[in-house]
Amino acid sequence: MNAERENSTNINISEIFGEDVFSDNVMQERLPKKVYKELRKTIDEGKDLDPMTAEVVANAMRDWAIEKGATHYTHWFQPLTGITAEKHDSFIAPAGNGGAVVEFSGKELIKSEPDASSFPSGGIRSTFEARGYTAWDCTSPAFVRHDAAGAILCIPTAFCSYSGESLDMKTPLLRSIEALNNEALRLIRLFGNKTSKRVRPSVGAEQEYFLVDRDKFLKRKDLIYTGHTLFGAMPPKGQELDDQYFGAIRERVAEFMKTINVELWKLGVTAKTQHNEAAPGQHELAPIFNDCNVAVDHNQLVMEVMKKVAERQGMMCLLHEKPFAGVNGSGKHDNWSLITDDGINLLDPGKTPHDNVQFLLILTCLLKAVDTHAGLLRESAATLGNDYRLGGSEAPPAIVSVFLGEQLQDVITQLISTGMATSSLKREKLETGVSTLPSITKDATDRNRTSPFAFTGNKFEFRMVGSSASIAEPNIVLNSIAAEAFAEASDYLEGCADFEIAVHDLIKKYATEHQRIIFNGNGYSEEWVKEAKRRGLPNLKTVPDAIPALSSESSVRLFGRFGIFTKAELISREEIKYEEYAKEVNIEARTMIDMASKSIIPACIKCVRDLSETVTAVKTAGYGSRAAQENLRKITALTDEAYSALEKLISDDEKSLSMPEGRERALFCRDTVKTDMESLRAPIDKLEMMVGKDYWPMPSYGDLLFEV
Ligand code: ADP
Ligand code: MG
Repeated sequence: MNAERENSTNINISEIFGEDVFSDNVMQERLPKKVYKELRKTIDEGKDLDPMTAEVVANAMRDWAIEKGATHYTHWFQPLTGITAEKHDSFIAPAGNGGAVVEFSGKELIKSEPDASSFPSGGIRSTFEARGYTAWDCTSPAFVRHDAAGAILCIPTAFCSYSGESLDMKTPLLRSIEALNNEALRLIRLFGNKTSKRVRPSVGAEQEYFLVDRDKFLKRKDLIYTGHTLFGAMPPKGQELDDQYFGAIRERVAEFMKTINVELWKLGVTAKTQHNEAAPGQHELAPIFNDCNVAVDHNQLVMEVMKKVAERQGMMCLLHEKPFAGVNGSGKHDNWSLITDDGINLLDPGKTPHDNVQFLLILTCLLKAVDTHAGLLRESAATLGNDYRLGGSEAPPAIVSVFLGEQLQDVITQLISTGMATSSLKREKLETGVSTLPSITKDATDRNRTSPFAFTGNKFEFRMVGSSASIAEPNIVLNSIAAEAFAEASDYLEGCADFEIAVHDLIKKYATEHQRIIFNGNGYSEEWVKEAKRRGLPNLKTVPDAIPALSSESSVRLFGRFGIFTKAELISREEIKYEEYAKEVNIEARTMIDMASKSIIPACIKCVRDLSETVTAVKTAGYGSRAAQENLRKITALTDEAYSALEKLISDDEKSLSMPEGRERALFCRDTVKTDMESLRAPIDKLEMMVGKDYWPMPSYGDLLFEV
């Protein structure tokens, strides 16, 4: 690493971009031609990697990594915890004479056996086989990561049980990408495309985050243990004045952004940061889109790098969906599209009528997919943190709907009404109808920020995803439901004598049957909640509401058709989610209990004692202080209220812990423990506004948000 080069204001992006990635260029440079070709076949066509090739690749990768200073390697994988996991092994192996040799074989590259027992498996491992395997995913490039632990070669991998059940996010993601590739190819072949060899989902995940001062962060146990605040009164100044706040912290934040850009570029992540988000202290990073699989890995890297760099610079990066109640939350916009290997974006409406027919079929297939699997899509973004955010006034609601924009809406309306015409007229219009529709151009102006699933020109943007979540799950669902809709369309069209009539019929049928999922209005409004209910759209407000969508009949059929998840895998994932939800609520409850019992209530009591001494002293002096007396009365009452709420929370939290793991306990946590938490928070937030600043045992919202 060249410190001078990094510190210079003129960073040469092309020089540093991807310098820590075992990229295609590096492989081409370092591998014998034949081996490189074999490996490309594996990457591009999914051919099995033979051990001989793996050996040569492993050697080249090791030598390259050692030149970059790496001493260890790790299989970098995403277990069901949503974060990435790794186990470091050094390249050093003992040599007979007491010395050591550098070793890293093909076998170690493609397969590893981490201690799987500590990762959640929802019962799969105990019923099948205790071992877990990680296997190299050569479609996502390996990289060397530099940090306090030194330099480590990271090998992106999938994580499976001995009998092949996936224990991670990557295995089903890769399966869903493959299914989508097959079905999208099948569909475009029907439209005469003979040249494209692959269709890949492309993804660009915009990442929102907050930066706070590290010293202040460390004074709040809620931030330390749960990533967000569990108490906190609103500052007198909210996000209405973020313009003023921005000037003061620009320097520190700019430094942070510059550093993460450089670190990410080296790792081959095409970051382009943007400054302003709605809330004070909140920012966003957007990468240039990439293949879905790589984009998922890159988003994990983005989160890792942000956290590390922030800490190094005396700050903390909050990735939680709702760090501060009453302040804008953070999400992730999962921009998703379909692009062929020869560069055709299938979600680009295009200019020629012929392409429009294909586009309209794909579009209406996606309407059908989202409508059919709205609950599952919602589930893919369901986390406890996101429950605090979805449905809030600044985040999309928990109801899934699709925004199309004026122009596409008009096309869909025309399609549906043409279908209502008499048969002769219908026939006449059938042959020319779609073909004469106007060319649909990129509709950049009409953007609806309130829609959870919005068409934005040549891609869809899924905005429900939480800021701390892996984007693997939402993309598994998007890829799978799209694959299913394409497959069903092809199943039908392949058997039809007159393709043009059939495709026109199908577009109209899908548009008509699934128009209820389209909503172009204000998704934040109460009216929409009522309207959605009238339309029969699911409104799954919390994690336990959403979880059953995973193993619904339609989900089992969907994932079964493409071999993405078995029913057993889905049920095990449900179990993990109930367990995780309850555990997270318990952690939040116990954090509140800790903070309230050990610091907040004692602080209030101290304040009460001082006030009562003041009242007595003033009385002795022959006066009465109304301010001291009133404060004493109110603070005493609120402190007692908090104390009673605390007692109830302690007892219900204990009760929940005695329940067996599963849905019942999750529901108890949601309905009882979380309600208790709110009852405790309410008086304490009021107390924060009355008890003197010197008594209050932790930094306030104002301190955290405005003094980064
Ligand atoms: P916005 O105006 O919403 O900021 P951008 O064009 O800047 O729109 O894109 C936002 C995100 O969407 C970026 O991460 C970008 O890479 C991604 N994106 C753009 N086009 C595509 C596409 N075809 N497929 C997937 N993601 C895309
Ligand atoms: Mg966006």
